Amino acid sequence: MKEITCKLLIVGAGPGGYVCAIRAGQLGIDTVVVEAKKPGGTCLTVGCIPSKALIHAADEYEKIVHMAAGKTPLGISLANPAIDLKRTVAWKDAIVGRLTNGVAGLFKKAQVKSVHGWAKFRDGKTVEVETETGTQTIRAETVVIATGSAPVELPFLPFGGPVISSTDALALSEVPAKLVVVGGGYIGLELGTAFAKMGAKVTVVEALPRILPAYDAELTRPVAKRLTELGVEVLTGAKAKGLNAKKDALLVETSDGKEVAVHADKVLVAVGRKPLTEGWGLDELALDMSGKFIRIDDQCRTSMRGVFAIGDVTGEPMLAHRAMAQGEMVAEVVAGKKRSWDNQVVPAVCFTDPEVVTAGLSPDEARALGREIKTGLFPFQANGRAMTMLGEEGFVRITARADNHVVLGIQAVGQGVSELSAAFSLAIEMGARLEDIAGTIHAHPTMSEAFPESAMRALGHALHI
Ligand SMILES: Cc1cc2nc3c(=O)[nH]c(=O)nc-3n(C[C@H](O)[C@H](O)[C@H](O)COP(=O)(O)OP(=O)(O)OC[C@H]3O[C@@H](n4cnc5c(N)ncnc54)[C@H](O)[C@@H]3O)c2cc1C
Repeated sequence: MKEITCKLLIVGAGPGGYVCAIRAGQLGIDTVVVEAKKPGGTCLTVGCIPSKALIHAADEYEKIVHMAAGKTPLGISLANPAIDLKRTVAWKDAIVGRLTNGVAGLFKKAQVKSVHGWAKFRDGKTVEVETETGTQTIRAETVVIATGSAPVELPFLPFGGPVISSTDALALSEVPAKLVVVGGGYIGLELGTAFAKMGAKVTVVEALPRILPAYDAELTRPVAKRLTELGVEVLTGAKAKGLNAKKDALLVETSDGKEVAVHADKVLVAVGRKPLTEGWGLDELALDMSGKFIRIDDQCRTSMRGVFAIGDVTGEPMLAHRAMAQGEMVAEVVAGKKRSWDNQVVPAVCFTDPEVVTAGLSPDEARALGREIKTGLFPFQANGRAMTMLGEEGFVRITARADNHVVLGIQAVGQGVSELSAAFSLAIEMGARLEDIAGTIHAHPTMSEAFPESAMRALGHALHI
């Protein structure tokens, strides 16, 4: 097979790699991207997009089940709702198909060459790709490692049989009657909530004292409350120990030291993700590591000249939008533009019920850094739009420097607050002060009105509370 030479080679076409490839192509860089699976990576095929599709279907279903049970005050009644998970998953797969084909189309448009197969590094400039038609050697002046991440497997609960990963959970053809979720982080809770809404009896087993341990307790309280309403049992401070002999229950050591067997048709292990650093020849490269991640600088350069790394393989936060932003930046750096990572904030959203969004520092984090702060919290209970949507649970909370009122962080929990992440990030990125947010006219009636109200509250003069 004829060797390919190019200016830029990208290994992995997840959100990091595919965005890097498209931008490099747009900038006229001769670019090749290698992907073993589908373009779009974890995010488009088994992560962000398919999980949100399933969550949406589950939300819709739960709403009508609630109505059918005569529990809604909206005056709507209906009978016998049902969900056919096979059709739901087929709909989700069609969205995935449209998006992955779309990325392939964008490669063509940007004149990026795409090679399908598993790449292995021979050295810092050369990879060999196992394609369907043989081994393809690719040599490049500059290389970007964008190999992403994989689910962490527990040695005493290996994937297989009833033990499933998030990827398997997104492809089930039936709603399991009993689902145990090991891990109360965002992936476990998003999927656990969706399956509970679709009718599964869900138990969450979390080793730490509370769910969503990456977020503060005030922010996660409405999520815990809703889980209880949905009948999800949450065992905190509890350790999964393995399956029982019949493989129909998970053995759990509870917080009081007792061992219990929690019956399960499926056990979803969602205890985090690890950078994908194996199987592609990392040993052939002399890269400095930062723990289990590849160490990078503020331009995503690794310790080897001409080798960049982006996305989940480079560290936390392992989020698609961080990978994309890094990919776009690296393409511009390779094109000779003056760019470096100067972002103030990488927002994060949990698509739980209600949703949680964070951008920047929480009050506790700001205090821990020794900052003098002002904070303001505005509850959706005092927001008209929230009332009209039966979405009064939650709040917007803002933290700013006490001296000059520059905003340090904004968090929200509530129905549909993921869309507020745009306003939160923009405010912080543009160096907004409390007065800027309080002085911006927000359309009425919207949930977003809680945002200027939180700023006004921090300034001591909220209007609607
Ligand atoms: C269930 C779930 C839900 C998620 N929800 C969200 C969310 O709502 N929001 C969010 O921001 N993030 C979410 N994430 C995380 C998000 O998917 C990742 O942060 C993101 O995909 C990372 O992008 P990446 O480009 O670094 O790597 P990946 O998306 O992992 O892509 C890496 C690609 O490289 C390929 N590859 C690896 N090695 C090779 C090789 N040697 N040769 C060829 N190809 C190779 C892989 O096949 C893969 O396609 C979720 C993840 C999961 C699992």
